[in-house]
Amino acid sequence: MKLPFFLARKFVAAETVDKTLPVASDLHSKGLFTTLDLLGEYISDPKLATSSKESYISLVKAIDSSSGTIDKNISIKLSMLGQKIDESFCIDNLHEVLTVAKETDTFVRLDMEGTDVTDSTISIFEKVHAHYPENVGIVLQAYLKRTEEDIARMCEMNARVRLCKGAYKEPAKLAFQDMPTIRDRYTQYMETLITKGNYPGIATHDDILIDATKSFVQSNNIPSDRFEFQMLFGIRGETQEAIAQEGYGMRIYVPFGDMWYPYFSRRLRERKENVWFVLKHLFMK
Ligand SMILES: Cc1cc2nc3c(=O)[nH]c(=O)nc-3n(C[C@H](O)[C@H](O)[C@H](O)COP(=O)(O)OP(=O)(O)OC[C@H]3O[C@@H](n4cnc5c(N)ncnc54)[C@H](O)[C@@H]3O)c2cc1C
Repeated sequence: MKLPFFLARKFVAAETVDKTLPVASDLHSKGLFTTLDLLGEYISDPKLATSSKESYISLVKAIDSSSGTIDKNISIKLSMLGQKIDESFCIDNLHEVLTVAKETDTFVRLDMEGTDVTDSTISIFEKVHAHYPENVGIVLQAYLKRTEEDIARMCEMNARVRLCKGAYKEPAKLAFQDMPTIRDRYTQYMETLITKGNYPGIATHDDILIDATKSFVQSNNIPSDRFEFQMLFGIRGETQEAIAQEGYGMRIYVPFGDMWYPYFSRRLRERKENVWFVLKHLFMK
């Protein structure tokens, strides 16, 4: 059974590209950057992976032909390009997307999914980064125990990293489970990425981490254009604008498309207020 879209509307911009582009333009007019994300994940049918590749390419072209009011920046999931079917098939699909990204000067961020694909995602990223260093970046998750080494490696490669806490349920042998440790790790990686990395994305809604980032750059006289903050569409809209007005880059991750359910359920799991929001709208419609 498909749930009605109005439930997800707080967190998902629209179900189609046409309706999403004006949302991105509107954010741009408020001084916010955007990254557009066509929702969907863990595809097991090669035909669907091919059609996702075509959709990603169409999205890059649609942004390119918009009137310059939308950032040429998208986020994609390798599991949508057939990563779980066959890695070399996925790499071929990714090369096609990145070729169009390079031609149109678009940046493509590879989202990080569950630990079943972490090794594969990093190894695919390392392969393509050599060919498209300006057009592709990756995400690292502070909750994973392996991330310290991945951060060091990405700094050596001068790769662009988005740092987030991590959104998937992972076992204690692979991921820290308690928030104080995750925040400590996040802070340590944020400092490394800002000093040794390449324009990192500090992706969090957490005031403790946002304040830690601001005080780190202020006390070390690091210019604000060396990194950007990132937040999700529909979460802390006023804070997003306030941070941009303070002179920091703020990029909004704008998800769209009809395969919104897994993304939507992660947002509900993260924060009980999000569940209340949805329940309230169930009865208000
Ligand atoms: C741009 C972006 C991209 C991401 N990409 C990925 C990815 O590729 N892979 C992945 O695994 N995860 C990704 N994530 C999700 C991320 O891993 C976390 O699951 C998610 O961001 C929640 O962690 P948090 O640090 O934002 O805040 P939380 O841990 O949810 O909240 C911490 C604190 O922040 C404050 N806060 C949070 N929300 C609100 C609110 N609505 N109003 C007021 N205060 C609030 C509260 O003080 C709260 O206690 C991404 C997140 C962002 C922002």
